[in-house]
Amino acid sequence: MSNFVHLHVHSEFSLLDGANRIKDLPVRAKELGMDAMAITDHGVMFGAIDFYKACKANGIKPIIGCEVYVANRSRHDKDPNLDSKYSHLILLAKNNEGYKNLAKLVSIGYTEGFYYKPRIDHEVLKQYHEGLICCSACLAGEVNQAILEDDMEKAKQVALWYKSIFGEDYYLEIQNNGIKQQILANQKLIELSRQLDIPLVATNDAHYLKKEDAYNHEVLLCIQTGKRMSDADRMRFETEELYVKSPEEMIEYFRNVPDAIENTVKIAEKCNVEFEFGHTILPNYDVPKEFKTHYDYLAKLTEDGLKQRYGEKLTKELKQRADYELSVIDKMGYVDYFLIVWDYIYYAKTHHIPVGPRAWFGCGFPCCLCHWNNRY
Ligand SMILES: [Zn+2]
Ligand SMILES: [Zn+2]
Repeated sequence: MSNFVHLHVHSEFSLLDGANRIKDLPVRAKELGMDAMAITDHGVMFGAIDFYKACKANGIKPIIGCEVYVANRSRHDKDPNLDSKYSHLILLAKNNEGYKNLAKLVSIGYTEGFYYKPRIDHEVLKQYHEGLICCSACLAGEVNQAILEDDMEKAKQVALWYKSIFGEDYYLEIQNNGIKQQILANQKLIELSRQLDIPLVATNDAHYLKKEDAYNHEVLLCIQTGKRMSDADRMRFETEELYVKSPEEMIEYFRNVPDAIENTVKIAEKCNVEFEFGHTILPNYDVPKEFKTHYDYLAKLTEDGLKQRYGEKLTKELKQRADYELSVIDKMGYVDYFLIVWDYIYYAKTHHIPVGPRAWFGCGFPCCLCHWNNRY
């Protein structure tokens, strides 16, 4: 393993806030002599698979993570005065259980906590923390927010809460981004780390690949916030340092805290998510007991559908056509898929829920199964 690993990296899936192309990230990591890299997009994991594949193709160990948004209060609270502020947090999957938990948390952010951003909260972090490494994130992290408010007691309490959940997998994150407040925060974080026995980790919150890409990233931010580059009051990062730095640059900057650099490697070694490709993972469809196989049940449904639709007019030709289509479905391993699609369409139709053409042929197969079973 190289002597530094980037564990806080945004790709183009940090929408309008990431100028890194996934395909370029592992190539750059390799060029700079690193052999692992994380992806931590804002609130989403859209890039996880592409990143994983791109890393594998370039001999880089992929670390799957996310920079989640944490609600100030509960994820269910959506009061314009109290809940428009939220904080950032880095989560990295150590193993496949961690990956599932991360996916779960990110989904909860959208389905339950969405308020301007997909937000999670302490309650779900407690519930789904298994298999995850947690880092305190950028200046928008909870600990840093308390530090910037000059409330060290609060910063301490927040850090201790996270330590109580993630144990030795909780890290205080110091960054090399040249922002004035960050320099102050780094000092305080180092103090907190020594005082509370919480390990440090050095990151660079990389939003673009090279220093010269900082301008392009500013343009992206303008598009996101509806501003012009000429607007004096536009949101900006006030730094050109958020690029994928070399290990040498990171080591030099944090030469007084070598443990923060060493920990990036230790974390990378701890993270071992493996994806399997090439086979279909479908939920099992429970068929009624009287049917020996799933195929038998699908065949019975098809037969019923044919009778209902054609009645007396059911010809040998139609029967042969249905048998042929069933055999293709069976051969392709899609029996359960068709049963699942039939099940929810049938449920909708028997519960007065409209089903439109998009859902009808949503399966994308040139087959008449849904059509045959249109009993209502
Ligand atoms: Zn952040
Ligand atoms: Zn970030």
